[in-house]
Amino acid sequence: MRTQVAIVGAGPAGLVLAHLLHLRGIDSVVLERQTRAHVERRIRAGVLEHGTVELLRDTGLADRLDRERMVHHGLELLFDRAGHRVDLTGLAGREITIYGQHELVKDLIAARLATGRPLLFAAPATGFSGLDTASPVVHFVHEGRERELRADVVAGCDGFHGVSRQGLPGHTVSTVSHDYPYAWLGVLADAPPSSEELIYAYHERGFALHSMRTPTITRLYLQVPPDAQLAGWPDERIWAELRTRLARDDPAWQLAGGPILEKGITGLRSVVTEPMRFGRLFLAGDAAHIVPATGAKGLNLAVADVSVLAAALGQWYASGAERLLDTYSGTCLRRVWRVQHFSWWMTSMLHRDPAGDPFTAALQRSQLQYLTSSTAAATSFAENYVGLPLEGGTDHDHA
Ligand SMILES: Cc1cc2nc3c(=O)[nH]c(=O)nc-3n(C[C@H](O)[C@H](O)[C@H](O)COP(=O)(O)OP(=O)(O)OC[C@H]3O[C@@H](n4cnc5c(N)ncnc54)[C@H](O)[C@@H]3O)c2cc1C
Repeated sequence: MRTQVAIVGAGPAGLVLAHLLHLRGIDSVVLERQTRAHVERRIRAGVLEHGTVELLRDTGLADRLDRERMVHHGLELLFDRAGHRVDLTGLAGREITIYGQHELVKDLIAARLATGRPLLFAAPATGFSGLDTASPVVHFVHEGRERELRADVVAGCDGFHGVSRQGLPGHTVSTVSHDYPYAWLGVLADAPPSSEELIYAYHERGFALHSMRTPTITRLYLQVPPDAQLAGWPDERIWAELRTRLARDDPAWQLAGGPILEKGITGLRSVVTEPMRFGRLFLAGDAAHIVPATGAKGLNLAVADVSVLAAALGQWYASGAERLLDTYSGTCLRRVWRVQHFSWWMTSMLHRDPAGDPFTAALQRSQLQYLTSSTAAATSFAENYVGLPLEGGTDHDHA
């Protein structure tokens, strides 16, 4: 097989990139390891930044999203049994959107298939050759056969456990990582949200987050030890812990319960691989970086990366100029590190230190009090949470 851009991975990064390239008349083949049913059911993120939604809308990907999304103008920080609303739109001038990542992936797959351009499921990439030449090759398996995909450029959009990062020779890249001494137990519950907005709770027993996916489905998270096992968390224990950590003095507030539809434990970590390029291989999204989920940034960062990459490839195919390809990694990494800092800071402020250090706890409370009483502090928080503008605009107007 031969194409212009070989895209490895059909998550948000790979599928949005495929669409942005299509709008520029650039051909691509998307290879996805899993089946379509698998990727369309995978429950992950759900908070879309304002800039992400704008990009999706401007490129014709937001019809269902605009009909079904939940728009949030604020969120709540809960500590010492009292809630404090942060007026995101009032402070930062932009709102956030709640729309499940798997719903977005369904929309992106439908849009890709409608273009008639190739998207192969159950087609895992196994390795690369010629990445430092003008015609790199992706080796993959499809329908039981080993195949080769030749391209001008390879986009490694295959997430944290993909093969693309391994395509970067060790001596050309550095990976910086930070592990947090806790994990998140996430559940999807068939229960209406108990609040119209997200609640981030700081509690002596650990962090909790009340989020939602639809008006009838709640998404809830609990801080748990990094080695926690699902077997130790039967449903009753999860609900009891959520009720404790989300409790408040307001007697009118109650956490709505319901059947738990899905649960999983995800570690929290920060990882950045730099540069995000080797020869003709460009990494984007989780393949290049991971952020702790507290700031709700992973999916948004993936979309930001590919908007930069699509613009760079558009310039290259249109004029042969390599300037934007050469600055791709640096441009993305500026945003990545801002988001890393915000996500780390928010995580550190809201999670209970397993060592139980009273100094850390006093600092966390002080920070929360400052954040909820100073307009300057709240504005900085809101600006980061709703998302900084995409670098150089979204550039999709050039599509
Ligand atoms: C378990 C989990 C839970 C998460 N929960 C949240 C959350 O609650 N809130 C939040 O804000 N963020 C969350 N995130 C982060 C967010 O979902 C990611 O940042 C986002 O999915 C990044 O998109 P991506 O396209 O870069 O990578 P992915 O969505 O991971 O997509 C990569 C794709 O590549 C495919 N692939 C992998 N290897 C190969 C291969 N060899 N060949 C072909 N295809 C391959 C994968 O199957 C996948 O479809 C979560 C992430 C994970 C992994």
